[in-house]
Amino acid sequence: MSQTHDISQTGSWMRDLSGETRWLSINTATTREQWTLAQAIDGIARAGIPGIAPWRDQLEAMGVRQAAQAIRANGLTVTGLCRGGMFTSFDRGGLAQALDDNRRAVDEAAAISAQCLVLVVGGLAPGSRDIAAARAIVRDAIAALLPHARAAGMPLAIEPLHPMYAADRACINTLAQANDLCDALGPGVGVAVDVYHVWWDPGLEREIARAGAAGRILAYHLCDWLVPTRDLLLDRGMMGDGVIDLPRIRGWVEAAGYAGFCEVEIFSKDTWWRRPGDEVLATCIERYRRVC
Ligand code: ZN
Repeated sequence: MSQTHDISQTGSWMRDLSGETRWLSINTATTREQWTLAQAIDGIARAGIPGIAPWRDQLEAMGVRQAAQAIRANGLTVTGLCRGGMFTSFDRGGLAQALDDNRRAVDEAAAISAQCLVLVVGGLAPGSRDIAAARAIVRDAIAALLPHARAAGMPLAIEPLHPMYAADRACINTLAQANDLCDALGPGVGVAVDVYHVWWDPGLEREIARAGAAGRILAYHLCDWLVPTRDLLLDRGMMGDGVIDLPRIRGWVEAAGYAGFCEVEIFSKDTWWRRPGDEVLATCIERYRRVC
């Protein structure tokens, strides 16, 4: 078999999503400057989009119970809660505090019936240059969190982040690392595949297949990589406006057995955060159908 991946072949096992929004979810980071969580719930439902993934600060502002009620009343599926993790961002002795916070995050995720709690694991510990030590802390911290997550029935989704965030956000930077961690930790933990973070990885197809074979792809996040990218955090592109081969990666994810939601997550301070929320969602729907 040829090494070259033929998209027309990929199409034979990919779900055809061109005419529907049934598997579309919106991460509320996408409209966080325009809309409160209450407004986002309304707007997403109004657009006919069935999935939502809120952030904890928004949940706190609205009230977990009120948010759960509004999400349920609108029939939305919660494709993930963002986010737990940040295990290394505390000073020495602060790990207990991080774990407390993460147990609360698990409970909040359960309260809104989220499909997973997304973990952004944290970068270097304060004042440290030891990234191996940071990775060891992350492994031990997730192991310590797992009994609570398992008891709550809440899967933990490790999200590998692009290496440019290794120092300050996440020292898990490839899907291979995340898969290794899942192998070491056992049931109750999986991965979130975010195209923004992993599109460049030469091992991506293999590691997606590995994650799929283990049944551990818990979420699939969409946006695009703009050239040039003007801000390391807040200049993500709308699907189709950048250089990520989105149909190819979705083909790999689906071939690996993932049949869940595609969650659009766009941090865009100069473009999409400046447009009306309804227009942003309409664009998400159109691009999802056409280019994802
Ligand atoms: Zn993501």
